[in-house]
Amino acid sequence: MTRVAIVVFTRDLRVSDHPALTRAAADASIVVPLFVFDDAILTGASSSANRTNFLLESLGDLDRALRALGSRLVVRRGSWAATVVSVARDARADAVHVSHDVSGHAHQRLTELREQAAPHGIEVHTHDGVTVVAPGAITPSGSDHYQVFSPYFRRWLDAPRRPVAPTPDALRLPDEIDPGTVPTLRELTADPCSPTLMVGGRDEAHRRLDEWSEAGLAGYGDHHDDLAGDATSRLSPYLHLGCVSPLEVMAVTGEHAHAGPFVRQLCWRDFFAQVLAARPDAAWNDYRPRGMRWRDDEHALDAWQRGVTGYPVVDAGMRQLATEGFMHNRARMIVASFLTKDLLVDWRAGARHFLRLLVDGDIANNNLNWQWVAGTGTDTNPHRIFNPTVQGKRFDPDGDYVRRHVPELAPLRGAATHDPDSAIRRACGYPEPIVEHHAAIAEYRAALGA
Ligand code: FAD
Repeated sequence: MTRVAIVVFTRDLRVSDHPALTRAAADASIVVPLFVFDDAILTGASSSANRTNFLLESLGDLDRALRALGSRLVVRRGSWAATVVSVARDARADAVHVSHDVSGHAHQRLTELREQAAPHGIEVHTHDGVTVVAPGAITPSGSDHYQVFSPYFRRWLDAPRRPVAPTPDALRLPDEIDPGTVPTLRELTADPCSPTLMVGGRDEAHRRLDEWSEAGLAGYGDHHDDLAGDATSRLSPYLHLGCVSPLEVMAVTGEHAHAGPFVRQLCWRDFFAQVLAARPDAAWNDYRPRGMRWRDDEHALDAWQRGVTGYPVVDAGMRQLATEGFMHNRARMIVASFLTKDLLVDWRAGARHFLRLLVDGDIANNNLNWQWVAGTGTDTNPHRIFNPTVQGKRFDPDGDYVRRHVPELAPLRGAATHDPDSAIRRACGYPEPIVEHHAAIAEYRAALGA
């Protein structure tokens, strides 16, 4: 009997190293490659025009890759689980293959899929593919996940890895299935996109990966914190949507003599994934509650979001986010610390703003990094403070990053860019600092003690 299987793409938008696709093609002679625009995500509080744009470009690439294999992408929109089951029934499929994911929403919709598929005799199989080491594959004794990064990293380096999954030679789609059409951005969201966005898709992911591992990887350890140098891979949005798999990134970079610091960063991604998989509630609840009393300060939040706090490196980071849908990691830490520790605004407000704009916006990496900085997360030290002026002078010593994103300060040079005196501020039309750092931190420490 001809077997038909569905592969549901979620945030694994590629045909290479895709264990779910490889397995479906091995088990069934007909495979339906399906993507469902999930109404719960499109209309949810964490939806983002920037990411939707990136998603559409990535789906275009995926469709081209599937066509090269003799198939094409089937597209639907609706309630995720019900839509998958409906397509499976139309195609007379007896199996659905999907990559295992870590968020609470992913858990919930997988449970719904299993419940709705079972009465029709449709089996649901999950596969690895979103991380290098699967969440839960390594655990400390007595716990279901690692709470601290360093011991996780030591185990992770030696953990067994699955082999890279071979791409099927060819795929066959059932004749009668209607492929549907990919909606336009405007059909999915009325929100505007940032003006300068990275281009989505597998081709661009591999172009970046190859170029960066040739020219950037060797210097990563020394230069990754250089704000103006922009010397990081910028692979995060491609990893988020799986245009390239983390194992493929490891395969290209891992053997490089100077890969160590970069591989460590990739491990942070797996680390947060295994935290969220074990504690899905930690997406929006404090991972380590510290009883912080946050301030409800709309004015401060607004100044931070618009990049007019009067702290040049903070404002540069926030304006980079607005313009590019991306922000340098060092700037993310500085602006997150500023919001939570200088302005005493709840990390959740910052995390929500980031998720609205980041092309790499990812619930595990975003919300758990926010908590790491805010002192409620996996970092056990709530007293870690980033002084924005000191950070600016250290990681943007010539002020180039600030001038790139805060054009009012273009006449300034070097340290003066980060510490403009009041007369210069007024002349440039640049605001006075909305808080004085040391006084603000004294208040933060008092709030922490209370
Ligand atoms: P590189 O420096 O080239 O690192 C390579 C890869 O390692 C990245 O692509 C990413 O997948 C992973 N990585 C690097 N640093 C981290 C980290 N600290 N935590 C987890 N993974 C990491 N990253 C996201 O992918 N999505 C987010 O929504 C996100 N939000 C963040 C919010 C805050 C407040 C902070 C402090 C960090 C956040 N990060 C997030 C982590 C990090 O800033 C980005 O992954 C990184 O800046 C992406 O740039 P890159 O690809 O050039 O990174």
